[in-house]
Amino acid sequence: MKSSSELRTLLRNIDHKSYPAYKSLAGSYQFGNYVLSIDHVQGDPFASPSSLHVEVPHKDAGFPAAYYDRGYVRTALADYLTRRMEEQFSAYNFKAKGSGKSGLLAISRCGQEVLARTACEITAQKIIVRFHVGFPAFGRTINAGELDRIFFDFLPRCVENGCFMRRQNAARLKAAIDLAEDQEEIRRYLRANRLVAFVANGAVLPRKSGVSDLPLGGSVPFRSPASMEISIVLPHAGTISGMAVRRGITLIVGGGYHGKSTLLEALQMGVYNHIAGDGREYVITDDTAVKLRAEDGRCIRQVDISMFIRDLPNKKDTACFSTEDASGSTSQAAGVIEGIEAGSGLFLIDEDTSATNFMVRDEFMQQVVSRSQEPITPFLERARDLYEKSGISTILVAGSSGAFFYIADTILQMDCYRPVDITEHVKKLCKEHTAPRTQAPDFAVPSFDRILRASVGESSRGGRNDRGKIKTFGMDSFSIDRETVDMRYVEQLADSEQLAALAHMLRYALEHALGGQMTVRQAVKWVYDTLEKKGWEPFCASYVPCGLAKPRIQELYACLNRYRG
Ligand code: ADP
Ligand code: MG
Repeated sequence: MKSSSELRTLLRNIDHKSYPAYKSLAGSYQFGNYVLSIDHVQGDPFASPSSLHVEVPHKDAGFPAAYYDRGYVRTALADYLTRRMEEQFSAYNFKAKGSGKSGLLAISRCGQEVLARTACEITAQKIIVRFHVGFPAFGRTINAGELDRIFFDFLPRCVENGCFMRRQNAARLKAAIDLAEDQEEIRRYLRANRLVAFVANGAVLPRKSGVSDLPLGGSVPFRSPASMEISIVLPHAGTISGMAVRRGITLIVGGGYHGKSTLLEALQMGVYNHIAGDGREYVITDDTAVKLRAEDGRCIRQVDISMFIRDLPNKKDTACFSTEDASGSTSQAAGVIEGIEAGSGLFLIDEDTSATNFMVRDEFMQQVVSRSQEPITPFLERARDLYEKSGISTILVAGSSGAFFYIADTILQMDCYRPVDITEHVKKLCKEHTAPRTQAPDFAVPSFDRILRASVGESSRGGRNDRGKIKTFGMDSFSIDRETVDMRYVEQLADSEQLAALAHMLRYALEHALGGQMTVRQAVKWVYDTLEKKGWEPFCASYVPCGLAKPRIQELYACLNRYRG
């Protein structure tokens, strides 16, 4: 490995040369107690900035081993350090001057969720921090003096303040680790007690606005109905009380604007842990939960939706159903089957975003249009079997059809943002009405042995460096070799970096696992096993960049079925 003084000499030698001479800096350099690696150098000052990383051995960084010896605390520590580095970098961003992106200094910007990111990875031996630097130029000429400032003045300070225990606010760091342990304890408690979700008393569920994920100030704090309240003893925060949602079918009703969708949205993001101060720190949901919704126009690939739809007038086979342009009901049916395939234990559904004809059909309509003329078996008539025969619970927000009262185990009414348990009252009322049909015959879960016929372009089959070209478009979509995968309505993605990671994972699956003999399930498992064992390297070209966040397995299924290539 070269020394930092060699880097300094190299820099001096290329000063005022044309920009591509920066490429000669690629490599690793020993800086006191860390190693700086220049992984990729941008081609010109206006291109995407250069990729770098630093490595700090634990013996120098000095964090207690108890902060990184288990997966979930490691993720919490890495998240904490990424946020610290972001603070540091933002103080020096564009302090070095020049044309184009000269002087940029950036790392991932974390949101309310705690995610495992490539920005900071912690192994048994060291801390790895990945980031971007815009190498400075005058016009298109190298400005080595400014890069010298970044490497020998700014960066050492950022690394010192961001990556070493002695520079951290110990109480604040401990609070982040403690919170992760408490959240893990709630997840463990849910699994052990046949619960699918927990919402603590005092939780703040609504968000500031449609475009801000911050808590809404002055909102009504959550309060559990007495009948559903439990207390959990947490290792750090002590005893916490709140609403426990049991397995089975839970119905959330209530007048418009009373907070139904807000509760469901908090639950759907409860698959992730949230940072302190978010208001949803103790809103914890079964982390396999899948939000189901209608998504007109989506693509469906070889999904067996016959549980819900059969005998179509065009005689299309619904046991292996493909379409480039799904209807509301077929898209939602496909969502259910994908969720089962992805191992989900909980479905979350909001009537607001569902296809009505998929959810329910009232008696009068059944008299007019007979069953034999209707290809759709509504969700209403499958939900009980989904729970009793496949163990999948449902939490459903419904405001327009009373039929769901008959299949619900628990009925909550949101009343001015406060849930009220009205189960007993409604079950009495049910006896006074004629029950609708709530169970259709012939419930059968598909076998899930499908093998996808999918491929990437020829170019991508070559070496590591000429793989399919990936582009991501915020939270909306990504493309591989110009084939776009629309993920706009996959609501449980928390960050655009998860989308970028999904693109890399999908490309890897297409190159190595799909199109051959592996079933979709085997391919997905294989992708996650590879990530677990080898990290991000196999998924990337020559180096692992800053900017990938680990997605859930459920979202990988979602993007496999939306890929049209
Ligand atoms: P519904 O689905 O029942 O029609 P929403 O969940 O969409 O109602 O909530 C309606 C509005 O009330 C939203 O603007 C939301 O931000 C706000 N809101 C939700 N929960 C609370 C709360 N606990 N305190 C204050 N405002 C809330
Ligand atoms: Mg609503």
